[in-house]
Amino acid sequence: MTRTTPTTADLKRQAFKQRVLARPVGWAAAAMRLGQRSLWPFLDLVIRLWIAQTFFVSGVLKAAAWDNALFLAANEYPVSWLDPVVAAWIGVTIEIGAAVLLAFGLGTRLAAFAMLCLALVIQFNYLAFDTHLFWAALLGFYVVHGAGPISLDRLLARGLVESALPFGATLLSAARSMSRWMSAPFLLVQRAWLAASMFAAAGFDIGRAMPAQLFVKIFPVQSAQHLPLALAIGGAWLLAAGLGTRVTALVLLVAVVGMQAMDPHLSQDWYWMLTLAVLFVTGPGALSADAALERRLKRVFPQLDDKPAFSLEGLPRVVVVGAGFGGLACASKLSEAPVKVTLIDRHNYHLFQPLLYQVATAGL
Ligand SMILES: Cc1cc2nc3c(=O)[nH]c(=O)nc-3n(C[C@H](O)[C@H](O)[C@H](O)COP(=O)(O)OP(=O)(O)OC[C@H]3O[C@@H](n4cnc5c(N)ncnc54)[C@H](O)[C@@H]3O)c2cc1C
Repeated sequence: MTRTTPTTADLKRQAFKQRVLARPVGWAAAAMRLGQRSLWPFLDLVIRLWIAQTFFVSGVLKAAAWDNALFLAANEYPVSWLDPVVAAWIGVTIEIGAAVLLAFGLGTRLAAFAMLCLALVIQFNYLAFDTHLFWAALLGFYVVHGAGPISLDRLLARGLVESALPFGATLLSAARSMSRWMSAPFLLVQRAWLAASMFAAAGFDIGRAMPAQLFVKIFPVQSAQHLPLALAIGGAWLLAAGLGTRVTALVLLVAVVGMQAMDPHLSQDWYWMLTLAVLFVTGPGALSADAALERRLKRVFPQLDDKPAFSLEGLPRVVVVGAGFGGLACASKLSEAPVKVTLIDRHNYHLFQPLLYQVATAGL
């Protein structure tokens, strides 16, 4: 197939597309990447430490008063299918052991899984609070995604692949597959879960298929009830579709923080805020309108995917002679125009003249 030489109008259109449209899209993408890379390590650490200390303190208190722990296991929150002594032992081991592992980010997925099970047992066998549900959401995130960069898991990962330890590489690749395959469905379910809670809080009768008591045990409706009505409905639609998810999560987060700051009677539900913060930083996952939009944008602007912005075939060639200040500036400007650029110089280096006298006078 022969390619026709682009007309001036084509070139102008392409140049406009690159200059006026691609730039803001590229900046937005870069800002999101930067935000994720710089915020996530610290947010991840805060979340792990925060949840870990809650479990750890509870575990230490029970271990210090073992009789009380046994009494609670037998009478306060008996697990029908477990002997109370065994239940007390398992509970305290998870609260102390898994919490320490989670704090250090060592065996994070396993520790988070144990703590997730405990959170669900507390929620369904003992007292139902939204806090337990947000624990479960955050711990579920760790089961699927593992710990962030500031963790022993990440530190040891490379050594594990190269070590002679049996199953080291297999375990690591299983963990990576888990993140790859489960991340999108998990984030979809999490968004739908938050959206359902907000719809229910706004008065929509979406829980009619199950008993009301069970519904509020599964969905954090009480927390969502504190949101202004319009925000709850709008946020629920956007979260369900995964459209503008980061902005929606940020707006909801600011609203929750604002309302809790203004109303001293509201309980400080940090885990609700942390769940929204995670959504803001990590985004909605692949099964979302945002991801579909991103895929479409990458097709229109391949440079967002680190690919050439357009095919160079059939484009005019501009030869810039001299790679001095003028030549480099010219080549850099032309990088966005649909032309092939060749920059030549008689030297294979760039001489930065303004610094010559500083070098000559040993100032530099
Ligand atoms: C000591 C010194 C200090 C300066 N300080 C400042 C300052 O502080 N601020 C400021 O704004 N300006 C400063 N200038 C001026 C500034 O450096 C020049 O105005 C600017 O470099 C001119 O840019 P240009 O692209 O026209 O030429 P140049 O930057 O000189 O580039 C010309 C290029 O063409 C190449 N070339 C030449 N002939 C051929 C050929 N036949 N084939 C292939 N390649 C060729 C050369 O190798 C060179 O790389 C200073 C200049 C000097 C000398």
